[in-house]
Amino acid sequence: MHQLSRPARRRINSFEMFEACVACSIIIIVSPIFVINGILAAINGSPYLRQSIIQDAVGRQIVFLQWPYGILKNTLLLLNVIRGDISLCGVSLKHACHDDALAPLTSLKPGLFSLHGQRQLIGNIEMTHGETIRFHESHNSFHFNLSIMAKTLLCHAIYQGNALPTPSTFNLFGIKIHNATAKSAVDTILSAPKETCRSVFFVNVNSVNIAVRNNAFTSALNNADMVLADGSGVRLGARRMGVKLRENVNGTDLLPHICKGASKRKLSIFMLGSAPGVAEKAAKNLQQQWPQLDIAGIHHGYFDKNHSDEVIDMINASGADICLVAMGSPVQEQWVESHQHQLNIRTIIAVGGLFDFYSGNIRRAPPWMREIGMEWIFRLLMEPRAKFNRYVMGNPLYLLRLAFYNRPTSH
Ligand code: UDP
Repeated sequence: MHQLSRPARRRINSFEMFEACVACSIIIIVSPIFVINGILAAINGSPYLRQSIIQDAVGRQIVFLQWPYGILKNTLLLLNVIRGDISLCGVSLKHACHDDALAPLTSLKPGLFSLHGQRQLIGNIEMTHGETIRFHESHNSFHFNLSIMAKTLLCHAIYQGNALPTPSTFNLFGIKIHNATAKSAVDTILSAPKETCRSVFFVNVNSVNIAVRNNAFTSALNNADMVLADGSGVRLGARRMGVKLRENVNGTDLLPHICKGASKRKLSIFMLGSAPGVAEKAAKNLQQQWPQLDIAGIHHGYFDKNHSDEVIDMINASGADICLVAMGSPVQEQWVESHQHQLNIRTIIAVGGLFDFYSGNIRRAPPWMREIGMEWIFRLLMEPRAKFNRYVMGNPLYLLRLAFYNRPTSH
């Protein structure tokens, strides 16, 4: 841990000039508040300002002036921006980085806004905190920083809910959802014993819309061992229920963590679902990224679901530990509910269109869309006919349902 020293005299770049101008402007705009804070300090007989220390994610300390009373007490951190000690956008001053020994070596300054902080607002689990810092460092530019700040403000406006509690489960339209982190979900998936097969499902806006009119689907979801929150719609739903979602634990972002963990622990994976050839392509891509990954078997998802014995025998004979089922909702969840007891595996996970993404057949939304929770717009643009009902009709319907939902007093 060390205190941040004033930078040596050097050329100021355009972003630093911009930052200093923004910081000056904000200080001028909020200066009437400083008068009130000063009066409050005088009434309480305390000094007008005190010196405080704040620490960034990698343990660097910043000394700054703070108002002891009033509002916007930390606004004078902007003076540190003007001095060049910190940046408007850099390493988080709010969240410590525990996950990566390399992160403390960053040349990125501490920042009032951070990429990690922005990703936390929508529970993005694509990178660890250390990886996020290094990604920011390698993309550090005027536009990149500006986009982080814009996305942070946008996500605050849409998904704010930081003050809400984070219970371990909550109920959304009769579906019990586990408010898990990616890490705890992966641990549960990988450490399940082989005696009984555990089921893991993901719930998104489409699942909720189906569940509202399909009791069999709701019951399949509620009989699962773990139901995870997938997407910004469920984040909004959780907020409406008075709950803050810990993370956005969707299948596409969770799969790399599962593959990494499975490779380490020598657990094998069976891939069931999608059109013939798609899972094979996805498996090849996954094994390119994780050469130790053991794919125990593959089967497409277009078989007669009423005659599944052959498929079940194939999964059991493969000796797989984990089965990924990609047959779309509600088919995959109901299939899992009906056949889970026949499977000699540790965990079965329903993953929807995941093989289509990992095979490269369908492109994923660009990062900036994922970072503001708008991946669905891209999916709609990619498959307008197939996804019209789901998104153009389904999303407003879901928002209406949320708006008119009478929230129970307890979770
Ligand atoms: N699918 C399947 N068998 C079926 C119906 C669908 O294997 O009987 C596959 C389909 O090819 C696609 C996936 O299930 O790969 C469903 O993708 P979708 O985008 O609908 O899933 P989501 O992630 O949106 O739930």
